Amino acid sequence: RPLRVALLGLGGYANIVAKGMQECKMAKITGLISGTPSKIDTWKKKYDIPDKNTYSYENIEDIRNNSEIDLVYVITPNSLHHKFVLEVAKTGKHIICEKPLADNAQQAREMIEACKKAGVRLYVGYRLHFEPHTQEVIRMREAGEFGKIMHVNNYMGFTIGDPTQWRLKKALAGGGAMMDVGVYSLNAARYCTGEEPIWVTAQESKTDPVKFKEVDETITFQLGFPSGIIANCGCTYNFNHSERLHLMGSKGWAEMVPAFGYGPIKGKTHLGPINQPSVNHQAYQMDGIAACILQNKPDPNVTGEEGLKDMIVVDAVYESIRKGGQKIMINS
Ligand code: NAD
Repeated sequence: RPLRVALLGLGGYANIVAKGMQECKMAKITGLISGTPSKIDTWKKKYDIPDKNTYSYENIEDIRNNSEIDLVYVITPNSLHHKFVLEVAKTGKHIICEKPLADNAQQAREMIEACKKAGVRLYVGYRLHFEPHTQEVIRMREAGEFGKIMHVNNYMGFTIGDPTQWRLKKALAGGGAMMDVGVYSLNAARYCTGEEPIWVTAQESKTDPVKFKEVDETITFQLGFPSGIIANCGCTYNFNHSERLHLMGSKGWAEMVPAFGYGPIKGKTHLGPINQPSVNHQAYQMDGIAACILQNKPDPNVTGEEGLKDMIVVDAVYESIRKGGQKIMINS
């Protein structure tokens, strides 16, 4: 049988996940959780979900008794991830939580601990780990095809629209571009090097202090790795065409543009174009996680612990900015 998934938070990205899941071979939507009854109504008709598998935010604990739900996928604004993951963990269901895993490393640790205590798995929605071009770059790096990695340069961002949206409110987003898209540059720096950063420096630029009153607009950050190399990364909420991964090694290189969106991801290396299929990221992610749970395949790099490693660095990025660009050492 497939992995039976309930979606919690029926907004923009949940729609994309649900659409992608129609292609899944091993995962299926069987439940819905929303604070808006009219959304439940529309969604249950569209995805053929029985009333007994629909929930509001007030009766999440009842999911415990539902044998038709194996996993709950939390797709709410960032600052609600912590609260909902703690609540869902108590139901004994596995969890995928969207990125960023939490507002900070402390929350992420509490989420991991709660899931451990409840005996459930916690994953973070890092869909690129199931994306074939990204997987090929990681495979080549692990096989030594780039030689020694010497430098990494990643950027992710876009021009944010509606000035009233939750992404621009600190209380719901936890932060700005760094929280939302900086995690792509950062996570990629970790999979491009295969190392964990030991120090961080960061700088913020703000060209629109009105729109970005509460959260960061554009951040540049540098990660120092144990091998001595430095990754130069960035993220923005204030310009487009900025989605790029660039890895340079002693024997070769990889460049992906675009590197982080829903695709098609395009890339080349010193050997030529990366010839991999263009896939539906959400379908691949959900089938990939279903395989881990149902067939006991080893967990890929999308566990709660992976999300935590990034949150530790995000904390250090913000600390460095608060301290005027000071070098922050990381003891993870
Ligand atoms: P959205 O605003 O479109 O949807 C958020 C949903 O949460 C809405 O249905 C909203 O009703 C619900 N919600 C519950 N409580 C709320 C509250 N107090 N205030 C506001 N909304 C509330 O946002 P989105 O783009 O779907 O983003 C949701 C999450 O998904 C974020 O954490 C984001 O980072 C993540 N995301 C991930 C990807 C990816 O590629 N992995 C892409 C987009 C978004």
